[in-house]
Amino acid sequence: MSRMLIQGGRVLDPACGHDGPADVLVEDGRILEVAPGIVARDAERLEAAGCWVAPGFVDLHVHLREPGQEYKEDIASGGRAAVAGGFTAVCCMANTDPVNDDPSVTDYIRDRARQDSPTRVYPVAAATKGLDGQVMSEMVALVQAGAVAFSDDGRTIMDSGMQRRVLEYSRLVERPVMVHAEDRSLVRDGVVNEGPTATRLGLPGNPAAAETVHVARDLLLAELTGAHLHVAHVSTAGAVELIREARSRGVHVTAEVTPHHLTLSDEATLGFDTNTKMAPPLRSREDVEACRQGLADGTLDAIATDHAPHAVHEKEVEFTTAPPGVIGLETAFAVVMELVRSGCLRPMQLIAALSSNPVQVARLPGGLLKRGEPADVVVLDPERSWTYDPLKGYSKSRNSPWAGRELVGRVVATVVGGDLVYHVDRGALLP
Ligand SMILES: [Zn+2]
Repeated sequence: MSRMLIQGGRVLDPACGHDGPADVLVEDGRILEVAPGIVARDAERLEAAGCWVAPGFVDLHVHLREPGQEYKEDIASGGRAAVAGGFTAVCCMANTDPVNDDPSVTDYIRDRARQDSPTRVYPVAAATKGLDGQVMSEMVALVQAGAVAFSDDGRTIMDSGMQRRVLEYSRLVERPVMVHAEDRSLVRDGVVNEGPTATRLGLPGNPAAAETVHVARDLLLAELTGAHLHVAHVSTAGAVELIREARSRGVHVTAEVTPHHLTLSDEATLGFDTNTKMAPPLRSREDVEACRQGLADGTLDAIATDHAPHAVHEKEVEFTTAPPGVIGLETAFAVVMELVRSGCLRPMQLIAALSSNPVQVARLPGGLLKRGEPADVVVLDPERSWTYDPLKGYSKSRNSPWAGRELVGRVVATVVGGDLVYHVDRGALLP
């Protein structure tokens, strides 16, 4: 019997509505008790004085790059980056090589994760074969192999009839369809948000309408089919408003937003830093504010990193040719803590957006600190400041807009299934 006592912290557990001082006793991988002043002399102790103790974070949107692009990231390195960021589970996107459109690939990812990753890994399977938007993937077989959702992320299903069929079939397997909503015919060769910043940079613009057009279409198709639509990485005020309105009339829609779209506007791109190039692009200040408001009022459910590792040689090129995307697992908590300090979110709302809400979106186990639940727990120091150096991080890649920045808020310890897998003073510990 193994026991751990997480002692002296402030427990923030949105699903149980619990905010207050308490100890957490873990036994054999599960939560045994949450209460103040627990005495357990035989237990391993994890000090949490001055810290928040919360359900482990769950990231709905990461790119682990394995199989096929292990020079950018693999399941082991991405898993270590995840636990260093407080994530006890991640959902990995299907745009690997080969694409995760076949149960053999889903099996491979799960096997590798079991052996090599300290975080739990839930594969998201492709909605269409080869992500080409032409032939639907075999959803039943993929779910049987362990897929938790469907997405052609990185691409958008442009054919509305195909999107309708994907949504219809997703109902049979009761799994969400996660959409990367960007109309390719509107994006064209746009690499930054269309507007004054693009003009100043002399770079081709990607209009906000490229996103809102597809969010509008997909909300209508979700309404038509009754399926669960999940909008990935919302970046525009228009999309937030459309989602808010659709929810109010009962459409089954959930949505996520990234730390970068919550905190950086397109002005961050004025220095031509390719680590500010994403898809969708960083948007206007008004869009950033709308995303923050959407998270605060519950229109957007989850914060997801869209962790997208790329090698140095790929990013150190002209802005127009660099691949879009940034890493984000190890900085997410510190970056979004700014929303609490600025009064946009209460601590409990922030924790919900990182843990219990994403668990509900993807229908995963856990997400709460209740007796009998898996002991996936994170200990956080909301005040601790640190300077982020990607070279000292666990991701194989370094493409972060926060490199060299001083951040406030630090993950102190991460526990997965009762095992201490990361401690800020000891590093990643398992496997
Ligand atoms: Zn995407």
